[in-house]
Amino acid sequence: MTNLDSNLKSVSGTQESAPTVGRRNILMLGLGLFAGYVAAGCTTTSSKTARMPGPVWPDQSLFSTKPTVLTPVLPPPTPTLIGVIPRSAWTKGTPDASNIDPMLPVKCITIHHDGMSPFTATDFSSCASRIELIRNGHRGKGWADIGYHFVIDRSGRVWEGRDMRYQGAHVKDQNEGNLGILCVGNFDQQTPSMAQLAALDRHLRVCMLKYKVKSRQVLSHQEWASAHTACPGRNLQSKMDGIRRAVA
Ligand SMILES: [Zn+2]
Repeated sequence: MTNLDSNLKSVSGTQESAPTVGRRNILMLGLGLFAGYVAAGCTTTSSKTARMPGPVWPDQSLFSTKPTVLTPVLPPPTPTLIGVIPRSAWTKGTPDASNIDPMLPVKCITIHHDGMSPFTATDFSSCASRIELIRNGHRGKGWADIGYHFVIDRSGRVWEGRDMRYQGAHVKDQNEGNLGILCVGNFDQQTPSMAQLAALDRHLRVCMLKYKVKSRQVLSHQEWASAHTACPGRNLQSKMDGIRRAVA
């Protein structure tokens, strides 16, 4: 039964008990009441068309058909680059959020070695353990996390280090907008592998393209005036000019 049928039936019943009012007038009264009801519930029709006093309706919010949906505000997803092994593959450790700055727009890239004992392993778990060892060393210095954003092992794998949403910790007083890449090994005591150099070349190109960095903005650690260090070791430092020419 429609509302109109219901209203008409109700008014018709009233007619039976009020014989002094004509059937036509009662029908018009019923239609008027119905028009008033429609006008009150329709946002596109003025309620001024209803001549009857406005009825008192219950709280209209109870009739809302659109429930309020609360959308949680989440940080943007981690911008992991294609082909990069996520950090979840090598550590369960999370950064110390109370001691870390957001990353500013990338303006340069710095290349490092780890400078620890010579490292020749290429298997996945040994490389993962080496990176975790470095992270633990950095945490032991009171840093928020591993200092570098990417790590390249001797087999040419590229691993995610510090999340790119965070500023790195790898060049004294020069970490703002500075993307850090670590090549595992000690290149004062060994040479970088061909696979490692090829991966460094590839990954530099990806980062330079993504963050619009010029080849002259690609430095080794020791090329920073503020850094008094032998990093990345003479056997990688000697290749820096060639690397810059290759990626230019
Ligand atoms: Zn370094």
